[in-house]
This record gives sequence, C-alpha cells and structure tokens, in this order.
Amino acid sequence: MKSVALHTLGCKLNYSETSTLAKQFEAKGIKLEEYGRKSDIFVLNTCSVTDNADRECRQIIRSVLRKNPDTYVIVTGCYAQLQPGEIADIDGVDLVLGSKEKLRLFDYLENIDVESPSCIFKETGSRIFVSGLDEVSGEISEAFSADIDSRTRAFLKIQDGCDYNCTFCTIPLARGGSRSLPINAVLDNAKKIIDAGYKEIILTGVNTGDYRYYDSGSGGVKKLIHVLYGLDKLGIKRIRISSIEPNLLTDEIIQLVKASDKFCRHFHIPLQSGDAEVLKMMRRRYNTGLYRSLIEKLNAKIPDAGIGVDVIIGFPGETDAYFENTAAFIRSLNISYLHVFSYSQRRNTPAAEFADKVDIKTRRMRSEILRSISASKKYDFYAKYIGTEQDVLFESNMVTKDRKNYIEGWTSNYIRVRTEYDKSLQNKIRKVRLNNINGMGPVECSCV
Ligand code: SF4
Repeated sequence: MKSVALHTLGCKLNYSETSTLAKQFEAKGIKLEEYGRKSDIFVLNTCSVTDNADRECRQIIRSVLRKNPDTYVIVTGCYAQLQPGEIADIDGVDLVLGSKEKLRLFDYLENIDVESPSCIFKETGSRIFVSGLDEVSGEISEAFSADIDSRTRAFLKIQDGCDYNCTFCTIPLARGGSRSLPINAVLDNAKKIIDAGYKEIILTGVNTGDYRYYDSGSGGVKKLIHVLYGLDKLGIKRIRISSIEPNLLTDEIIQLVKASDKFCRHFHIPLQSGDAEVLKMMRRRYNTGLYRSLIEKLNAKIPDAGIGVDVIIGFPGETDAYFENTAAFIRSLNISYLHVFSYSQRRNTPAAEFADKVDIKTRRMRSEILRSISASKKYDFYAKYIGTEQDVLFESNMVTKDRKNYIEGWTSNYIRVRTEYDKSLQNKIRKVRLNNINGMGPVECSCV
C-alpha cells in the first residue's frame, strides 16, 4: 500500500486543513505515515507569518529527502500561495499548490495509482498550481479535526481569509478575503467530530469573530453567535472559541460563555500593541480604551476566565516610549498569559515600507521583558486556583518526565495540569484538585 506523511507549519487552521488532507489520502487507500518516517508522498503545509518560511521549508524538504530520496514532495499553504516560484526552485519539490488548490490535491495527482508507487506522476522540475487572489477569495473549503492530542480535542474550521488588512499582516494576501462556511456545514462537521469520539471542539478561522454567512433559507445573515447557539445544542462536552479580535467579542458571546456549561471559560484576544500610536500604524480596529474595557468586562462577568493576549514587539516606529506604554498597559491588565511575537517584515505589506525599523537587539530585549511579564501573569493566574477543584479534560497520551509517567490535560480556563498516569483517565473529563505549581510547567493535580 502506498503511504503519505504530512507536516504542518503555522496556525490551527493549517492543522485542520492538513487533517482534511489526511482523510482524503486515507479515503484513496493511502496509508498515513508519521512525519519523519519513510513514505511515498510527503506533503508540507506551509505558513508565511515569519520570514523564516523559506529556510524552514528548505530544511524540512532536505531532511525528508535525505531519508527517502524518491518521495514525491508536495508543498502547499500560505508560503506556496505567496512565493510559488521560490518553492519550485527548492531541489526535490515536485508539486506546488496554492490556497485554493490545497484541498483539491487529487485533481493534480491525476496519475496516482494506489497499487504501485512508481506510477505517481513525476517529471523533471516542479509543477505549480496557484490561483490568483481573486479566485482564492471566491470560495471556502471545509476542514475539521486534527488529531492534536489523539481524539481528545478537534479543530473545526468555520471561516477563512480576512478583510482587515493590518499593515504588518500577509495573511489576507495568502488566504484572500473573509468568507464563512454555511452554518449547516459547520454543524454537520461538528456532529462528525462528536461521532468520532472527540470531547472538545476548538473553533478555528483566520478571523473567527468575523463569521458572516447569508442563509438563503432563513433569509438572514448568520454571525458567530448563531454558530455558537447551534453548537451549544449539540452533544459535545466542551467548545473553545480560540482567538477572537477584541472588536468582535460581543456582549452576547460573553453572556453565552457565562451561561453555558459547554463553552470553555477561556478567551484569546489579540492586542498586538498597548500603545495608541502603534495600534494606529498597525491599522488595528480598536484602541486601548476599548481593549481595557473589554478585559474589565470579562473579569467582572466571568471572574475565572483565562485570558490570553497576543503582542507584537519591534513594529517599525515602536520607540522606547511606545514600548514602555505597551509594557505598562499589559502589566495593568488582569490577564493570564501572553503570546509574544517579534515583528517580522513581510513582502508586499505596508509596514515593510515604514521607516524607523527596530534593530534585532532591541527586539530581543523587548521580547524578553514581555516574556517575563507573561511568566509572572501566568504564575499569578495558576496560583489563584491552587487548592480549588476543577474539571479537567485528560488527553490520550502518556508523558514521561524524570522517569515518571504522567497524563496531562486542560481545565476549562486553560490551566495545564498533570497527574500520575492512569489509562482510565484518557479522553475523560474528571474533577481534580490543583495541588501545586511546578515551575512554568503543568500544575500537579489529583482526582477527587
Ligand atoms: S485581523 Fe489583521 S492580523 Fe489578523 S489575519 Fe486579519 S489582517 Fe491579519
């Protein structure tokens, strides 16, 4: 039987799409092989968020070909959409597919023969199939479920693309404008995930909060809140909203998360900068005032909510004073952790032309400062829950550390916990007591 190995770089949306590709291969009778093992076909689903994309792509392909010189290499994803020529020039790449072509991979593997690997279409040099951005924006493909932790939590794609055009971001160029899956398709896919035994659904999209679908049946526009109402009625144990833009996190959504026993008490809300001027230069759609009142509202309505925040440091024009404003703003917020990104210049974005670039050394220093703020916020957040009882969804794998076996899981408000390995806990939601903080690692807990 022919085999395929797949590897994903980047966001949750990419992971859910790779998972759909895996299902397509399986449906053709092609065996899934673990990444790093020998396979007849290798698919790399790329990202374009940082400028390391080409280096990473090259390294991965080289290492795959070292182990398996005859493998058929397919590269797709945002980097493939944006720079197909660069990828085709990488030695060993056979097929380059853009964003629209990604989930129609088998249209481009027309000579595939599941019995004999040698029949895979192969020619000298790479073939490139990348549609223009106007075509990419015209459609949306379905994707759901990535085995991120062995049938415990699944990603469900509800939306793709983005209309926001933040000045640093290349995603609208790679994935096109905002479009959403029909609400019925979302709910049908959610049911498939539930039937497959998953306990938690993580909603994904490029700009999930911007979900908008015109429903010709009811004659109305469906928004994210309608998707959430629909999911709340299904037999899933947990739903996590994942990342949502601050201007799109409405009172109705907050109210639903507060009232429902299915929605995780966890929000991930990009801030990017805590300085008013930098936010304007980034062309973000909110100001620090809106952000602060949103966090205060969340703290008041759902006091145990875990709140994660994305921040970019080193944006062009970010002076020491602007950075200090960001650090002070973040220190003053009652949040649980940060994801800190160093600004990475992307081709064809407005910010690439901005003056006053921030040098690497300063970027590193600023990054360090925010990471240490993040560590202390996370510690304080975890510490608040020591001695309390929480529901934890345990994962399916065994983690071995310091010669001991553990099983790990997440609380609803996104505290990572672990306890001594017990197979009966796998993929189960159990009440635990949080015992003690273990550095920056998972909190030690015991079942009650
Ligand atoms: S909201 Fe801004 S940062 Fe996020 S995907 Fe859209 S353009 Fe990019």
